[in-house]
Amino acid sequence: MRSRISFRCPGCNARLRASIDFIGRSCPCPKCGVEVQVQPLPPTEEAPILVLDSGLVLPEARTK
Ligand SMILES: [Zn+2]
Repeated sequence: MRSRISFRCPGCNARLRASIDFIGRSCPCPKCGVEVQVQPLPPTEEAPILVLDSGLVLPEARTK
C-alpha cells in the first residue's frame, strides 16, 4: 500500500489527496478544473475530501 499526501487546490481551496507517486505532477481539479500541482503539505489539515488516484482526481466517496 502506497502512502498518500494531502494538498490544496489553489483555485477553489479544495482539499485533495494523491499517491506520493504524483508528487510534482499536475492534474485538473475536479471542482474548478484548474491545474493543480501535487505537493505535500504538513499533516495538519483535516481529512481530505477528494482523492487523486491513478492519475485522476476523484471524489473520495465514489458514487459511481
Ligand atoms: Zn479547485
